Amino acid sequence: MRVSVIGTGYVGLVTGTCLAEKGIDVTCVDIDQGKVDCINRGETPIYERGLEDLLKKNIGVRLRATANLRTAVLQSDVTMITVGTPFRPEGVDLQFVEEVSRQIGAALKDKPDYHVVVVKSTVVPGTTDGVVKPLLEQASGKQAGEDFGVGMNPEFLTEGEAVSDFMFPDRIVIGGIDDRTLDLQSRLYQGFPDVETLRTNNNTAEMIKYASNALLATLISFSNELANLGAAIGDIDTADVSRGLQMSRYLSTVLPDGRRFLPPINAFLLAGCGFGGSCLPKDVAALIAHGRKHGQEMSLLDAVLLINRQQPARILGLLGKHFSDLSGKRISVLGLAFRPDTDDMRESPAIPIVRDLLASGAVVRGYDPVASGEARKVFGESLPLCDSLEEALRDCDAAVLVTRWSEFETVPELVARMNPQPLLVDGRRMLDKHKFARYEGIGL
Ligand code: NAD
Repeated sequence: MRVSVIGTGYVGLVTGTCLAEKGIDVTCVDIDQGKVDCINRGETPIYERGLEDLLKKNIGVRLRATANLRTAVLQSDVTMITVGTPFRPEGVDLQFVEEVSRQIGAALKDKPDYHVVVVKSTVVPGTTDGVVKPLLEQASGKQAGEDFGVGMNPEFLTEGEAVSDFMFPDRIVIGGIDDRTLDLQSRLYQGFPDVETLRTNNNTAEMIKYASNALLATLISFSNELANLGAAIGDIDTADVSRGLQMSRYLSTVLPDGRRFLPPINAFLLAGCGFGGSCLPKDVAALIAHGRKHGQEMSLLDAVLLINRQQPARILGLLGKHFSDLSGKRISVLGLAFRPDTDDMRESPAIPIVRDLLASGAVVRGYDPVASGEARKVFGESLPLCDSLEEALRDCDAAVLVTRWSEFETVPELVARMNPQPLLVDGRRMLDKHKFARYEGIGL
């Protein structure tokens, strides 16, 4: 089977590279010629653990990149749409999906064989059948269900773990307008024989993606709201509250050897300085806007976003307990990416935290193991960047931990060697408070 993947961002490049690794012939398409050239050289335009090795192994063998969408569609059996779907105040912005749908349709006009178009971008329920399908039909002059199929295959990968998430998925969800569309997608995923596949219609497939992200966002804001209440009441440690909650039989299991098994959902039941990234904030906002269009108020999810927007400001509140005025105080921000193991800074809580610190007159420095390049794009020269964690911790009045990088487990040891020791503000409750002379944390 030959596949064309339109859009080589996090989802498209990981999908294309991993499908090639599974033996499928893949052509990745992007309008950005720089990205195309980079991929064809065997280099990844993004940082994603394990991706470059797989790319180098497959490029020029079963994988190639091009800016020519038409040829890529004509020379493939399945086309996957993986372009961005950003959020605008009025709702999800489908301009990229619409544009590539028209272009794919125009190519299908000249393709005699049956073809399947699969939407992998995250789109609000109703988009694949109500927007993509009609555009394909108009541009091709052909009939969906007769001449081509239209499917929806949401992507659940987590940035930073994208390659392993794709190669070892927890589920495969495929939607389609008919059995033929679904069958071709099942064949596409035949390299994953042990993974449970859910076959459904396109609207439901789209909704499953939003339901998954909305649940995770809700759990995070729930944890943050309780942590904030604990801090307001006083003498409550939210880390212990989380542990006590997680000991419930609904959330964990005691194994026969007495150890407790905590399913990964528990990672979303920890308080922190808020969630970010290219997906959770925008997907929840898009679902709220979409609900409103359908006359359905989304009060719970509204509150989830409100709590999240306010959470980064908690960091300044914690610093304010130690410094009456932040002007001239040397503050290091540890972690700029929205989560560990990625360089993606989209909607990272580090952005409002750094901006608030700069606005309050603090002398701010940043450190991130991999996101320096992205940080330059976001902050320009306004945020000097350190080359190492040690450098970031040296000569600062306070260090603010924003991202849960495993490297930061060495912070207690590094701080212990310093005299005087800086205040540590733990935005993720990642470190042991007893190891610091001066420590503040969310919900402590
Ligand atoms: P991205 O912005 O990183 O990449 C999109 C790519 O599409 C860019 O390289 C862009 O140049 C390209 N593009 C835009 N218009 C094009 C056109 N006309 N022709 C060819 N290429 C074009 O986006 P992403 O993070 O990979 O996300 C893609 C979709 O997947 C979004 O809907 C997102 O919500 C969803 N998603 C993202 C993640 C994630 O973790 N990033 C996870 C699951 C789902």
